Amino acid sequence: MNRNKWIKAAIAIVLAFAIAVIINQIVLKLFGQKSADRAEHSLVGIVFVMAYSYIFLDKKNSHMGSAEFFLIALIPCYLGTVFPDLDIKLLGIGGHRNPLFHSCLSYFILFFILGRKSNFFRILVIGYGVGLGSHFWWDIIYYGDVRWIPGGFSDRVWLFINGLLSFIPPRTETKSTRNT
Ligand SMILES: [Zn+2]
Repeated sequence: MNRNKWIKAAIAIVLAFAIAVIINQIVLKLFGQKSADRAEHSLVGIVFVMAYSYIFLDKKNSHMGSAEFFLIALIPCYLGTVFPDLDIKLLGIGGHRNPLFHSCLSYFILFFILGRKSNFFRILVIGYGVGLGSHFWWDIIYYGDVRWIPGGFSDRVWLFINGLLSFIPPRTETKSTRNT
């Protein structure tokens, strides 16, 4: 890449991040969330789903632009970043990072129930998975101890693998159901 292309790419990344920050504020307002921890996880989720729509969206087969994909995936992505922390509400802070919540289990339940219903549902499921996986990978950086699993290293391996599995999208339908 020549110098101009690098500058253009850098500007695009800064702009995308600024947009992510603004969208994050809107989503947090929408759900009445104020905690810094929540804001971090949610912002990371938005950045991941932006990157996902940019890098992985198969434009030939999806009949859908990145922006449209992003808008549909945004709220399920947010919910994916929230889900693992629901164990605090259900089990108390002592049960936080329970492996049932900090695993790809909830993703694969949605994957099998909704993943192939229609392209729209598929994107909702992908959004949820990207949000969930981004939560686990962020937990690796801000090390979170996962219950029942011994040792810091195995916790991180657990979070990494479960994050990776949450990024596996349901297969595309062979025929598009869209009329337009
Ligand atoms: Zn967590």
